[in-house]
Amino acid sequence: MQADSHSPAPSSSSKAKQLLATPVESVRGVAGKRAHLLHRLNIRTASDLLFNFPRDYQDLSDEREIANLDEGELLSVRGTVAEVAISNRGFGKNRFSILLADETGHLRATWFNQPFMAKRFAKGQHLLLTAKPKLRGMMWEMSHPQVTWLAEEEVADEPRKLLPVYSLTEGISQYHMRRMVETVVEEFGNVPEEVFPESLLAKYHLLPLTQALHDIHHPDDQESLDHARRRFVFQELFILQLALSIRRGQQRELHAPELPAVAKIDARIRRLLPFELTKSQDQAIREVAADMALDRPMNRLLQGDVGSGKTIVALYALLVAVAHGYQAALMAPTEILTRQHAKTLANLLDASRVRFDVLAGGMAKRERDQLLENIATGEIDVVLGTHAIIQEDVRFKNLGLVVVDEQHKFGVRQRAALRQEEHSPHYLVMTATPIPRTLTMTLFGDLDISTLHELPSGRQPVNTYLIEPDKQATWWQFVRDRLREGRQAYVVAPLVDESETIAAPSVAQAFEQLTNGELEAFRTGLLHGRMSSAEKQQTMAEFHSGEIQVLVSTSVIEVGVDVANASVMTVAGAERFGLAQLHQFRGRVGRGNHPGYCGVLIGEGSERGRERLEAFASSTDGFKLAELDFELRGPGDLFGTQQHGLPPLRIADLQRDRELLEEARREAQLLVAADPGLKHENHAKLRSQMLIRYGKALNLSDVG
Ligand code: ADP
Ligand code: MG
Repeated sequence: MQADSHSPAPSSSSKAKQLLATPVESVRGVAGKRAHLLHRLNIRTASDLLFNFPRDYQDLSDEREIANLDEGELLSVRGTVAEVAISNRGFGKNRFSILLADETGHLRATWFNQPFMAKRFAKGQHLLLTAKPKLRGMMWEMSHPQVTWLAEEEVADEPRKLLPVYSLTEGISQYHMRRMVETVVEEFGNVPEEVFPESLLAKYHLLPLTQALHDIHHPDDQESLDHARRRFVFQELFILQLALSIRRGQQRELHAPELPAVAKIDARIRRLLPFELTKSQDQAIREVAADMALDRPMNRLLQGDVGSGKTIVALYALLVAVAHGYQAALMAPTEILTRQHAKTLANLLDASRVRFDVLAGGMAKRERDQLLENIATGEIDVVLGTHAIIQEDVRFKNLGLVVVDEQHKFGVRQRAALRQEEHSPHYLVMTATPIPRTLTMTLFGDLDISTLHELPSGRQPVNTYLIEPDKQATWWQFVRDRLREGRQAYVVAPLVDESETIAAPSVAQAFEQLTNGELEAFRTGLLHGRMSSAEKQQTMAEFHSGEIQVLVSTSVIEVGVDVANASVMTVAGAERFGLAQLHQFRGRVGRGNHPGYCGVLIGEGSERGRERLEAFASSTDGFKLAELDFELRGPGDLFGTQQHGLPPLRIADLQRDRELLEEARREAQLLVAADPGLKHENHAKLRSQMLIRYGKALNLSDVG
């Protein structure tokens, strides 16, 4: 964890500020060479080092002398390596052991089938071993203990119960890092000034900053660590919530064009729709229309399971904007999806005068310049493109609506990027990955939410099977049968770099093997993100037309791809994908009148991975799976602050700390309601912390 969210605010006391800015080079105990290495960890000042929180703690809660060990408890011993035993083979097992000595006796530590361990030990090393010891004959033994290598000087140290574990870089040992932090805490630990008003510390029973700083590096016990951590977690979340709260206030001040879907417009658009809307589509459309009728920007998230029909809601909104003479932009994460939307739009708008175009990545400069000009002069009503393209310097004549499809990133930045001078466009973001409730209420609290609860009628849930290694031949037989019936199939495999050593099938290998094996008789295409945009387009077109029967792909097909004739999905290397992602893959099939099937090839995943996959096979509810993913893996890649366009959190954990998140949110809202610009002198430090951390990301620099 690095400094800035916790580092002290510029304050009246410029002395403190100056002291904390002391370059690490000049901090006692940091030698010149090490200072350089610290820079690699982004630690440049005394303050950075001070706020470089441990990433973990080693629990030595019970350190004993060897003579005083007990069976069945997690215990630690400290001693010197007396002997490194040659591994002895027997019963097919490779055993390696060392003998550790302290003043009271000897202990044997043993590892099975980890021959590489042998290289790490040498006679005379000082170690700290942690495990549940067992008495074998006359000898204490630890099997696969946790090992901490100690420096000479540490051997005699007072036993400390929770040893901090810092992130390191090559050339800095844990021991050195501990020493440097210890020194900086001694010398600078009392310098930072409190950022919270006294009343807030009291209300939430938060440790004062300097004490928390001391305790987070040097906890006396678990309780003191919990206290210290709680203070910093609260601080981090509170400052985040302050920023979001202020941001919300600013949003409310923005102006947007009023685009009501009056009866005439509504009827005209509905006539274009090729099917009857589901109840929730209808409901969502009404919510969207109500927002767009107001003179401040809509800020709505439309969530709905894969195949629930979000696109049509978006198209409705686009056409409302166009009906009022405004332009609209539709952004999608991939060019494949953009093209697909263009096709849907073309079908729908067959007989209408709406002018739309795709702003693509590989366009020739002249063509692109022409298109940009047409957008700027208002010749084009609807612009489709990927997020990246639209965010570039596209100038609109009068942009009224932005729709972002299949977005896992709810980036506030994008909104800012497309903001115009006179007014802000309305904003609709769509996702098939439902956001866990805790987060919609907090982190994503600035979005209103519409939900599509049901799938269009006639849709059948995808049948999902976990395929054990010895059942794979049967599965491929099943796939071939479907192909012979005229259906199409997907095979998804991870894109694995050759540098990676993990035994996962790469998409290239899968392609190679299938085309020379199980699916030899069928026309197969390969799709991955590293292909050029023209190649991808070509492959997708061939799959759409049926020329390609089997599409072997990386997760690029995860979002949105809609080929109704495809009915079988095979996933290899499923351990590498999140549940929400697997659910997305599965959503590619069963879209037409044919039942969909999804086979997950089981590899040698961990038991935990297995549990996840079983949950996946037994539930087709994307919302439930997203909650489960959140339980099992935390916000992970999908719902971290980064997905919100914000810097990563450094100490808080959105899942583990949800209660604190709620508290921080409530309190931040109260504070902002009472002091919207954080002008009160008691709030000066909070304000400056907030600006340092989120000012740029949230465009808050104009606060106050
Ligand atoms: P998603 O929510 O995953 O983006 P889409 O908008 O792509 O779903 O819709 C999935 C498929 O369902 C499309 O082929 C679309 O034409 C079709 N569809 C959408 N709404 C309806 C409806 N009300 N009735 C029948 N088919 C629908
Ligand atoms: Mg979609």
